[in-house]
Amino acid sequence: MAMTRQTRRKRLLVLGLLLGALLTGCSSGAGSDETANHAVHTAPNGDLREVTASIDDLPSFLRDKPEPIQETYRLAGQHADVLKWIPCTCGCGPSAGHRSNRDCFIHEIRPDGSVVWDDHATRCDICLRIAAEAAHMAESGKSVREIRQHIDATYGKYGPPTPTPQPPAS
Ligand SMILES: [Zn+2]
Ligand SMILES: [Zn+2]
Repeated sequence: MAMTRQTRRKRLLVLGLLLGALLTGCSSGAGSDETANHAVHTAPNGDLREVTASIDDLPSFLRDKPEPIQETYRLAGQHADVLKWIPCTCGCGPSAGHRSNRDCFIHEIRPDGSVVWDDHATRCDICLRIAAEAAHMAESGKSVREIRQHIDATYGKYGPPTPTPQPPAS
């Protein structure tokens, strides 16, 4: 997909906003009063899950969230195949059973293309920063292995990584 200069600038702006955010760990879900016609339920750890018809259809729990968070969810959806090889170091491995940074945004992509979104990353600067940076690198043409090495080196210090396998050589 061709990307306009304006889109690129917007993404850089989003990344800058995220990088400017304070690094805080994750809080657990705080319940919800979602009323959209999407199926919504709560995971055992309190994180909210919501089903939408496709990866282009963002969950309604983002509606009242700041635009950088919405944009990062959109990027995470577009780059889900990259993020599944990228660990998250916010502590969500031990605390939420996440296997990669993808799980902080997307619980499941079903065979019919529908998506079970997870609201964990809406409360987690580390998850957001890792995803935004990985997506930006992917759009700059970096390989998944290069992205993985960068994220490991940059975010490994924050906490225990999710048990994410190394990406295959490409
Ligand atoms: Zn997190
Ligand atoms: Zn995470």
